[in-house]
Amino acid sequence: MNIVEVLKGDITEFKVDAIVNAANSTLLGGGGVDGAIHRKAGPLLLEECKKLKGCKTSEAKITKGYNLKAKFVIHTVGPVYKDGKSGEPELLYRCYYNSLKLASENNIRTIAFCAISTGVYGYPKKQAADISFKAIFDYLKNNDNDFSKIYMVLYDDETFEIFNEVFKKYGK
Ligand code: ADP
Repeated sequence: MNIVEVLKGDITEFKVDAIVNAANSTLLGGGGVDGAIHRKAGPLLLEECKKLKGCKTSEAKITKGYNLKAKFVIHTVGPVYKDGKSGEPELLYRCYYNSLKLASENNIRTIAFCAISTGVYGYPKKQAADISFKAIFDYLKNNDNDFSKIYMVLYDDETFEIFNEVFKKYGK
């Protein structure tokens, strides 16, 4: 059975060990998926996030999931897309890699990612998909790990189609 699976859906509804939030560097909530996660998790998530004192681009921090179905939330901060030559690919790659590393350290076996940086942060979706899957498959190749499922969750049809197309290259 394949560990990595691409699905269309709402990440806030996923019953997994951890969902990965596309946060901003304050970790104090925002729009998009971040706002949706905070709304469903409830106010205690924000209280725990306040104690983390922010998060740098490409790094990851973990909190509990509170009222979410997921036990944990891994918060990572994607790069804002400028021109693709300002370190964005490496930073986006490290978001996935660092999130999986942190998940492993916390004995997380099932995890769901959203398409980090592809909303307000403006990362071109096809390029973001390439980097996302490269990072996930590199991680699985290079590290001993106990992941049983890694979901890539896309919210809308267009993003799902793009990610699914790119995934076919990897999901053999
Ligand atoms: P960023 O600032 O990193 O671009 P956004 O939240 O604006 O973050 O968007 C990241 C991606 O998450 C986008 O592709 C957006 O469509 C998607 N998204 C928004 N809401 C949800 C949700 N509830 N579940 C899964 N993905 C979502």
